[in-house]
Amino acid sequence: MDKTKIYQQLPHPLKTLSVSAWGFYLSALRYGGDFNRLVEEALERDTWSKEQWETWQQEALARMLQHAATTVPYYRRSWEERRRKGDKTSWEILANWPILEKEKVREHPQLFISDSSKGKHLFVDHTGGTTGKPTMIYESRESIRQMYALHEARTRRWFNVDRHQRWGMLGGQKIIPLDQTQPPYWVWNRGLNQVYFSVFHIKPETTKHYVDVLWKYRPTHLVVYPSACAILAKFMLEQGLQAPEIKVIICNSESTLPKYRELMSKAFNCPIIDTYGMAEMCVAASECLEGIQHYWPDTGIIEVYDPHRQEFINDIGSPGDYVLTGLLNRDMPLIRYANHDIGYLPDWQHKCACGRSLPSLASISGRSNDLILTKDGRELYILDTLYNGLPVVEGQLIQYSMDEFEIKVIPDEAFSHDAVLEEITVRLGQYLGEVDLKLTEVDEIEKNPNGKFKPFISMINNRTYQ
Ligand SMILES: [Zn+2]
Repeated sequence: MDKTKIYQQLPHPLKTLSVSAWGFYLSALRYGGDFNRLVEEALERDTWSKEQWETWQQEALARMLQHAATTVPYYRRSWEERRRKGDKTSWEILANWPILEKEKVREHPQLFISDSSKGKHLFVDHTGGTTGKPTMIYESRESIRQMYALHEARTRRWFNVDRHQRWGMLGGQKIIPLDQTQPPYWVWNRGLNQVYFSVFHIKPETTKHYVDVLWKYRPTHLVVYPSACAILAKFMLEQGLQAPEIKVIICNSESTLPKYRELMSKAFNCPIIDTYGMAEMCVAASECLEGIQHYWPDTGIIEVYDPHRQEFINDIGSPGDYVLTGLLNRDMPLIRYANHDIGYLPDWQHKCACGRSLPSLASISGRSNDLILTKDGRELYILDTLYNGLPVVEGQLIQYSMDEFEIKVIPDEAFSHDAVLEEITVRLGQYLGEVDLKLTEVDEIEKNPNGKFKPFISMINNRTYQ
């Protein structure tokens, strides 16, 4: 029997003990050693000039490329192969490296571990792939601390909260059996000072229990999957349930759609902060109170690629596929890693009213897995605007064929089936021509196994990155 199954069968007090013990372990791992110094250093870098960052990034990149080309089996072999074929280009220049498909890393993660990390204890993180099989990422204690220090600085200290205060997490860990119909739907983690709420149990009839526990623990901040927190917020508003004062809600793992933001800010009456980052440790970004997303240049380098023209984009106003080079994780370097997100280049010119000079970064405008295939062979990302202004809390678009779609929606107040169907048919029609659309109202949209919301399912487009 695996550990999760044993855990699931424990009575609640033992779950608390078990989770807390795990929390103490994680706390020592993440926040031990020189953690506090790393946080202060990160905060100092927030006001660095562009020139300071350029120098810093160039040096870090040079070290990482040299390290990757000479000590990582996958890259070393690939450069040896190129040399055999007479290719004399230098590995010291990032532009000479090929794009690395996510699938390559997913299939053979071991090939990306540096020889210099052999014998060293490495921790494994897995990315929550929406496509099923997760990617294993190996990392050392040092990289983990560095990443958590950046998070402490930029997703907590920027908002005058810190990890020593009680906080709430609404995430996809299966802390409670999925079929459990009685509270508690949370578990107190003493080691992390965290109350962890299950995203899988939020329903109209359970909402009151969630809110009672917020009052019991009074967390200063919440870290949430925005789709789940927005649904909780919706039920709270419908039932007139008041939350205790929360200073900030930090969203991660999913896109924070405008509708989610609206519901959360109505129900909790506090700033809602979007963040971007990933377990691959390649690149991260987070919003400040001005609503500007700031890129964290100390995590990695962002390039943007146009897969149709097969060239890199230099214009900060044009979206394309992200190609990321991590600067943190020397145990498993990812060079020009295509993670399937679609976004823009950072803007180094933007002057933010918050006073920080970290470049602004437009929000991720989708994932290539969410591209809708059209009859004339285009691939479109339209989910961000599809439900704008409509009385829809959450929608999932399913493409069965080129012109056959279904939309499952969780209706908001003032929902009218015919009006919404008509409007979405018009909107889809603008992009796709005439389509056959079915609109289904549901209470709940099925989550993927990680507890994340899937905005789009295609039965016909299985694009892999070129
Ligand atoms: Zn700012």
